[in-house]
Amino acid sequence: MVRRASRNFSSLVAVCVALLLVAPAPASTAAPVPAIGVADRSGAGAEHHGPATTPAKVPVMIGSGGAVASVDADASQIGIDVLKAGGNAADAAIATAAALGVTEPYSAGIGGGGFLVYYDAASRTVRTIDGRETAPATFTDTRFTDGAGAALDFTSVVNSGLSVGVPGTPALWQRAAQVFGTRSLRDLLRPAELLAQRGFVVDETYAQQTRDNEARFRLFPETVRTFLPGGSVPAVGSTFRNPDMALAYRTLRLRGVDALYEGRLGEALVDAARRPRTAPGVDVYPGQITRGDLRQYRALLREPTRTTYRGLDVYGMPVPSSGGIAVGESLNLIEAYGAQTGQALSDVDRVQYLHRLAEATATAFADRNRWIGDVRNVPTRQLLSQRFADERACQLFDPAVAHPRPIPFGDPDGQYTGCAAAAGAAQTAAEEHGTTNLTVADRWGNVAEYTLTIEMTGGSGITVPGYGFLLNNELTDFDFVPLTAGVPDPNLPGPGKRPRSSMSPTIVLDGNRPVLALGSPGGATIITTVTQVLLGHLDRGLPLVEAIAAPRLSSRNGASSQAEPPIFTGPDGAALTTMGLVLSATPEIGAATAVRLLQGGRFEAAAETTRRGGGSAMVVKPD
Ligand code: GLU
Repeated sequence: MVRRASRNFSSLVAVCVALLLVAPAPASTAAPVPAIGVADRSGAGAEHHGPATTPAKVPVMIGSGGAVASVDADASQIGIDVLKAGGNAADAAIATAAALGVTEPYSAGIGGGGFLVYYDAASRTVRTIDGRETAPATFTDTRFTDGAGAALDFTSVVNSGLSVGVPGTPALWQRAAQVFGTRSLRDLLRPAELLAQRGFVVDETYAQQTRDNEARFRLFPETVRTFLPGGSVPAVGSTFRNPDMALAYRTLRLRGVDALYEGRLGEALVDAARRPRTAPGVDVYPGQITRGDLRQYRALLREPTRTTYRGLDVYGMPVPSSGGIAVGESLNLIEAYGAQTGQALSDVDRVQYLHRLAEATATAFADRNRWIGDVRNVPTRQLLSQRFADERACQLFDPAVAHPRPIPFGDPDGQYTGCAAAAGAAQTAAEEHGTTNLTVADRWGNVAEYTLTIEMTGGSGITVPGYGFLLNNELTDFDFVPLTAGVPDPNLPGPGKRPRSSMSPTIVLDGNRPVLALGSPGGATIITTVTQVLLGHLDRGLPLVEAIAAPRLSSRNGASSQAEPPIFTGPDGAALTTMGLVLSATPEIGAATAVRLLQGGRFEAAAETTRRGGGSAMVVKPD
């Protein structure tokens, strides 16, 4: 979505990264950090490194040496440079994510959180890091209600300190660098610091996102100062610099992430959330985060979810994300529909394919909303068991008719007798979108799938004074009040609790070999997008980039299912409507990235062809 500001920037970063990451590193052993930091080499000499080649923004690239896919060419290039210089997939993922914090500041950055799923080639295991934001220790389950027990106004909570959770992104980067990486954060954050300093060229997507947020950004003078330079939306083609964010990265590099969790940067963050500085006459809810909350924060290593699909192992993100479970259950349901009808997904026509996709994801959402949240005893194993899916399919699936919404949730009690009646109905909450995703694979076979967010595009709208980054509004991912009266809701707010997410970074293994990794932004639609791209590629025979580009349908158990225009206005939509599915049109769903690991050490990186202005897929050595 952004192009470079300076023609020299790409080669500058490449040279800097190369200077730093001198020694090729084995997959999982830490290489010594060179004594000379990039900072010492980057300054005036930068202009002498010759003309840069602007990285082309292409949605698919095949080759060897490693691969990176993200929404942004500068970010993908930075990841490729890290791989070229001997860094591994974790190193490149961190550097790419940090760069996205600069060029996609409304979607991701150090004020937010995210989830990393990682295939570690040395141990042949998939592991995950949970860098989800947490609620303050004083947050209660009625915090988002008024005195009468009614939900507070959603928009008023979003644009306030009350929605801000303790950021997890810096802690995730630190943990990933320590556990999987071969380089220090001090090195890995340097290219992003440079990018923030030098700036990038504003494109239409960035300008539009700024316009969309302009009114609420104007509530907070520091956000105006940072993101509306001169008081207006930056013009397309102008260079956008963020020296304050460069300072934030420099602070993290030189003082470590403790600067945020224990130091001055954290003080500024807490102050911004608790006492947001607002425009004259504007009053917003104060936040509750304390320095103690920051000190308590940990990025957590968690066991991934796993399900099998057509002989492949599909790994995803466990609770507090619902992504791994809901994508896995959807895939199990697709298998169950195949067994029930005697017709595999690969053999049905396109309308029947879309019908099965919609029924599967809507059913999975019914179960997600009832059973998944950051609570004890989420029945993960049961929700992912094929027998549970078989029972759900038997109860609910009709190849000719869409089940009326809301589909009732099931009872994952381990006793599956075939077609027991479903347990009860639960509603689906509306969710907003503002996130980014990246995929990296390296030449040693490590794979990083990483989704990161500040929740809505523009987060809470609050910029931390002097540090140029936006604070998340992730706590609005909690349900403000129980979704359905009388039905327990595992996703109410709670002290130190992590709001339920839909982020679905996914890695697919064939035996012990990773073959595919993918993920997407898009709030709750992430689950349907990841499922649809998987099915498009694995069952419908679409090349990866076409599976990503294919028109999307997102059925999440709400009254209507969202369809992109080619489905909504075309014959497929008409046929689905005839089957009873209520559709609504939506211009664009998600912005996926993926990498396929081919035989012989080759890779296919893939990204969007047009959504969000198109993505950027790169490999180290193109064929
Ligand atoms: N906050 C959302 C979640 O965790 C992500 C928002 C988005 O993708 O835009 O599911």
